Amino acid sequence: MSPVDTDRFQSLLQEERARLVKELEFLREENPGSVEEETGEETHFDQHPADAATATHDREVDYTIEESAEDALRRIDAALARLDAGTYGVCRVCGRGIGEERLEARPWTDLCIEHARTFGP
Ligand SMILES: [Zn+2]
Repeated sequence: MSPVDTDRFQSLLQEERARLVKELEFLREENPGSVEEETGEETHFDQHPADAATATHDREVDYTIEESAEDALRRIDAALARLDAGTYGVCRVCGRGIGEERLEARPWTDLCIEHARTFGP
């Protein structure tokens, strides 16, 4: 038997997943095309260095958000796969139960609180 109420965490993960998918769609609509495609095509940036700096800054911020949303999505997919496999809610380092309180805050985690300090969020 699984150490946690997997149905509940499955719906938590699916809700969070749906939210992230929407967020990523929105970000991609806002930023069609890649950074590489846009560099070198515009000459007006040379005439307005301040605008160019602002545009570059915005772009970097957006891509950071997009990357972290994609990262979160990968974590959620991995967590859903663990739910299917019956290994959800177990620390991947020490194999102990992660604890429902922590899973409620971070339903995608595969680290107990102790190992999250060592191996990241
Ligand atoms: Zn652990």
